[in-house]
Amino acid sequence: MNDFERLAELLLPDIDKDPSYYEDKFPARNLGEGVRVTRVAPSPTGYLHLGTLFVSLINRLVADSTGGIFFTRIEDTDKKREVEGGIADIINGVKHFGIKIDEGFVEPDREEGAYGPYKQSMRAEIYQCYAKSLIKQGLAYPCFCTEEDLAATRAIQEANKIRTGYHGEFAKHRNITVDEAEALIKEGKPFVVRLKSPGSEENKVIFDDGIKGKIEMPENDEDFVILKSDGIPTYHFAHAVDDHLMGTTHVIRGDEWISSTPKHLQLFKLLGFKAPKYVHVSPIMKLDNGAKRKISKRKDPEAAVHFFAEQGYPAESVIEYLMTIAASDFEDWRRANPTEDYKKFKFNIKKMSASGALFDTDKLNDVSKTVISRMKVDEVVTRLLDWAKEYDPEFYEILQKDVDRAKAIYNIDRENPKPRKDIIKWSDAKNYAEYMFTELYKPCFELPTHISTESAVKILEAYKTAYDPTHDNSQWFETIKSICPAANFATDTKAYKAEPEKYAGSPGDASTIIRVSITGRTNTPDLCSIMKVLGYDTCIARIDAAIAHFKTV
Ligand code: GLU
Repeated sequence: MNDFERLAELLLPDIDKDPSYYEDKFPARNLGEGVRVTRVAPSPTGYLHLGTLFVSLINRLVADSTGGIFFTRIEDTDKKREVEGGIADIINGVKHFGIKIDEGFVEPDREEGAYGPYKQSMRAEIYQCYAKSLIKQGLAYPCFCTEEDLAATRAIQEANKIRTGYHGEFAKHRNITVDEAEALIKEGKPFVVRLKSPGSEENKVIFDDGIKGKIEMPENDEDFVILKSDGIPTYHFAHAVDDHLMGTTHVIRGDEWISSTPKHLQLFKLLGFKAPKYVHVSPIMKLDNGAKRKISKRKDPEAAVHFFAEQGYPAESVIEYLMTIAASDFEDWRRANPTEDYKKFKFNIKKMSASGALFDTDKLNDVSKTVISRMKVDEVVTRLLDWAKEYDPEFYEILQKDVDRAKAIYNIDRENPKPRKDIIKWSDAKNYAEYMFTELYKPCFELPTHISTESAVKILEAYKTAYDPTHDNSQWFETIKSICPAANFATDTKAYKAEPEKYAGSPGDASTIIRVSITGRTNTPDLCSIMKVLGYDTCIARIDAAIAHFKTV
């Protein structure tokens, strides 16, 4: 046994396997040339973030572009920052948005696949085995520096304007001997394991990022920690070991990791692994007082994906919107294929913007209106009920009383070739149709200023006698025209436009009077259909209330 081997035994005596065991246990995937394996590797330190959802979507698209695999891995090495329910929220969230998970955590409490465990806290032995192998080769070593030692080094570096960190002459335990290490271990001193970096700041490392293109950075020369004092790996080390063993071909992650990539490339090389292709996704940005900044969990409600669920944005609206950010050619494709599943779109990572796209609520709203306008009424009501049950129980109760009536309400104008786009999200649906529900209806008799209350009374009284609830749409409008002379309104829009001074109003004004009286609004979907759903008695009662109101003002 040479010194390095003795050191390895001293530091990690319980590890009896060597890397070949895991290499055999997790053989290369053999999926065929060019088939991509991607993953999202969230840390359950919070709830699903818009950025994680976006990165998951990109990973899924990249895997799908070659019929590949997308898996999830839970990076829970930081137990202190873990939040309860974090894993469930992230996994359920990704699934809620229709992003299929092939492998890894397919459910919050169920993993699938031959490359697990897919949770880092369950893989300590694997990391320790690879760390031990590096120690045996003289490529890693124990460091016994305390927090105070490291702070003292930092102070010296700062005072001398030297780059801070554990590198070069500041790598205090780099050449520790087995005997020294043994003595310290006997004293019960805790240690971390550091990589003995062969890199030099003078050298450049170059890699071809899938989105950002060629990136050139100084080589890593820092002896960074690979195993913490509790034997748990750092992100850097776990990333290299896991993505190698799990056969990840493309590491697609947030671009905050670019600065760590030289460390990662160095690890892959020293461990004898083939490096994956790196793809760094720019964050979604926000405009804040005219300046662009990263969307922030603290400042922006939409950073937490829950926001969209609470507001009642359909999952596919959010995905559709994220697609417009993900691919600059998606909108053209969508125009040419208005009803096609977005999964049919040929995604090309090269079309991604290298700088962060701005989060645009108006755009999301626009996309979402279209998504909802294309839904059949059964789906609208089912999904509205699902949403209301959780976020607006009072409205849920009202809808629930008569689901068929709710369907009739939300079907008004829906079958038109060009359906109205009034509903952006489920939380809009109540206000949109408030006047259809007796429990919610609030009369409002505000007429456009050019219509007098006297005219309104005359029109409403004439209409009460002419109103026939069996009339279809065109008969309905004929009736409106027929009552116009009762208030000296023109019976014909053209005639009114030619000589407006001759009349007190137009047929359009007559229907506005009726509309306001029945719905409290000047703008609604088709009034004839509304009146059919409301029923004769309700319409007459509302007209009577309006007449009474207009007579008193
Ligand atoms: N756990 C890391 C994070 O939450 C994952 C980064 C990666 O995808 O490699 O950011």
